Formats: sequence, C-alpha cells, structure tokens
Amino acid sequence: MPLTAPLQTPRAMGGSVRVAGIRVRISAGWWLAAALLGWMLGARLFPEVYPDAASGTLIGMALAGIVVLFCSVVVHEIAHARTGRRYGVETVGVTLNLLGGVTEMRAVPRDPSADFAIAAAGPVASFALALGFALPLHLWGGASPHLGGVLAFGAVLNALLAMLNLLPVFPLDGGRMLRAALWRRSGDHAAATRATAKVARVLGVMAIGVGVLASTVGQRGWGLSVLLVGLYLRLLARSSA
Ligand SMILES: [Zn+2]
Repeated sequence: MPLTAPLQTPRAMGGSVRVAGIRVRISAGWWLAAALLGWMLGARLFPEVYPDAASGTLIGMALAGIVVLFCSVVVHEIAHARTGRRYGVETVGVTLNLLGGVTEMRAVPRDPSADFAIAAAGPVASFALALGFALPLHLWGGASPHLGGVLAFGAVLNALLAMLNLLPVFPLDGGRMLRAALWRRSGDHAAATRATAKVARVLGVMAIGVGVLASTVGQRGWGLSVLLVGLYLRLLARSSA
C-alpha cells in the first residue's frame, strides 16, 4: 500500500493501537470500509456460497472477515515500518483508511537498496500471509466448511493485496520498487521519480482504455473492474505528482 514521506496525518477518529512497537491509527474511513466489507461478505458472498447457513453463522463469518481484513492490512504495513526501522528510517505511524493503509515514514530512504527493500516488504508479507491462510485451508478446510470460507477469503484477500500493490504505479509499492531500480541504474533520484510517474500515467490510461473496450464488447463485469483499477491508478498518480 502507499508509503509516504512525511505528510499531514488525518485525524484518527476511530482510535489507535500499538502493534509491534508501531502506532496504528484507525481513521473513520477504515470503519466505513470494514462495514462495507462486512455487508458484502455477510449479505452477498457467503449466503451465495453457503445457502444453508444460519444467519448467526453468516454474521460470525462476516465479523471474522473484518478481523481478517484488519490483520492483513496491519501485517502489510508493519512489514514496511519494521523494514524501514532496520534501514534507519523511522516511521511516524501506520494509518488505516478507506483504501487500506498508509505507512508514514519520517524521511526518504538514503539509498535505492533501502528504498527497494522497504517497499518490497509489504507485498512479501501479504504473499506470506496468503500462504498462511491457504495452508490450514488445504489441511483442515474440509472439516469445517464455514471456517474454510473465512480462510479462503483471507488467502484471496492477501494475494490480491500483494498483486495490486505490486503494480508499478507510484506511490504503490511496485511503483516505489520500480523507482528504486531506476534510481540505482541512473544514480539520479529525481529522474527516476519522473520516469516512474510517466509509467503510472500511461498504465492508468491503458487500463481505462482496455476497461472501456471490454465493456463495449460485452465483457461488462470484467471491463468495469479494469476501468476502476485504471481510475484508481490515475487518482494515485495525480495525488503523488
Ligand atoms: Zn505496501
């Protein structure tokens, strides 16, 4: 998820907790995202997959899904923060918001290797967590289908978190990794930042084009998803310009 240099931290209207020595603030937007996810899981996804489940079971599964989302985003962000600390870049804190989470660093890493490692730590943690959910699902998922449903959600969510964040679009982790690689090659941080921003703009426009094209040839669901990703990328590119 986006890593930022010092910025104005939104007020933590939803409280804060300390995890592994890092302050995690919860903004009001995160509670909105959690409520939306809870509704999506409890009223849409799980009833379709488990039509015979009692409503109490579905509510329990949806609440477990919200806990899984919280843990998944926190683990991803804490991985950034702890890796930053290892490279001498302290973290102001982690903020959970509507779009996931942001780790706010006190400074820009001094060299491209540190920049790359701090950015890569998040997706690596998310992939590890996806495996952490997939393994018990594979071993014991059959014994309790409802628990299996929550584990499957955790595995898919974390795989998606890792893959979305690996898109080479600044300030997503993939964009930072790309910038670090260009920075190492050219030795010019500013030029690497400009080149990365250009890649982000082009990819955003391409995704919007592919999304519109797919929608017009009858692939509406798929096309709309790509279109939304494209708009999200454009928004991110603009906000970090
Ligand atoms: Zn990240």
